[in-house]
Amino acid sequence: MTQANAAQLIDGKALAATIRTSVKAGVQQRLAQGLRAPCLAVVLVGEDAASKVYVGSKRKACEEVGFESRAYDLPVTVSQETLEKLVDQLNADPAVDGILVQLPLPAGIDTTRILERISPSKDVDGFHPYNIGRLAQRIPLLRPCTPWGVMKLLASTGTDIHGLHAVVVGASNIVGRPMSLELLLGGATTTVCHRFTQNLEHHVRQADIVIAAVGKAAFIPGDWIKPGAIVIDVGINRKADGSLCGDIEFDVAQYRASFITPVPGGVGPMTVACLMENTLFACNQFHS
Ligand code: NAP
Repeated sequence: MTQANAAQLIDGKALAATIRTSVKAGVQQRLAQGLRAPCLAVVLVGEDAASKVYVGSKRKACEEVGFESRAYDLPVTVSQETLEKLVDQLNADPAVDGILVQLPLPAGIDTTRILERISPSKDVDGFHPYNIGRLAQRIPLLRPCTPWGVMKLLASTGTDIHGLHAVVVGASNIVGRPMSLELLLGGATTTVCHRFTQNLEHHVRQADIVIAAVGKAAFIPGDWIKPGAIVIDVGINRKADGSLCGDIEFDVAQYRASFITPVPGGVGPMTVACLMENTLFACNQFHS
């Protein structure tokens, strides 16, 4: 095959920059009306290197769009009680619009209890059962950032996804499951695959849209991709040489797909941009 057959790259970096620009305009509009800037509180527990990178990019994005960003960096030894008290304090603070607790939390901390403690109106990650429930019932408010970002990437291809068969590989609470709810809301016929799925290859080969969120390098062979399919790779895996790659064998898949996201530069920047959008939304909608 020649380069001419290669899929069109979906440029998540560029789309994310457009979203950040529009959020920045929203902030300036508030300031012009004499209102305060939105405020995002970012809680980081421990020294996990990847978490530090993600938190760093979220704080940088806050700065770029003109949000106030509050940093709460806690030691890995922090207790459940202390973390819950911090969440309570941020819930009660009228100047805070969004609370983000970076996952994963250390073993010994009950993540579910922490996430459920965040006020749904400040749950800008969209992980609270209330916000997931709203999405499931087709009345979304604060939407999980990564799946919401993927929907925007799909829309950017100009494809009408109604009736298309979307196959999501991965069923975690933060990506795969809410992703399936977004796709259903968007009118796609949706299949969710997970570790107990039999004959994954069969499912992926049927897909008009493949969304991979497993966390295993090149887990989906490129030749499973149906010619013309849209391929969205959520996975972020570090290779031995230090570079990043996704869950899909990109070098092969790019010659079968119609559109494909690169890793990095695809879904990752969209997650952060959607977080900014959610925080502005929470500020305008619930706390002004
Ligand atoms: P996770 O919690 O580890 O979930 C992985 C999912 O993959 C689980 O649902 C698991 O199934 C499924 N899985 C594991 N082995 C499988 C197999 N052999 N066949 C089919 N499914 C299998 O990970 P996550 O938090 O969803 O993240 C997934 C990837 O996305 C990671 O690389 C992560 O770094 C990346 N990520 C990227 C962004 C971004 O902004 N780009 C955001 C979040 C995550 P079970 O449910 O049955 O265990």
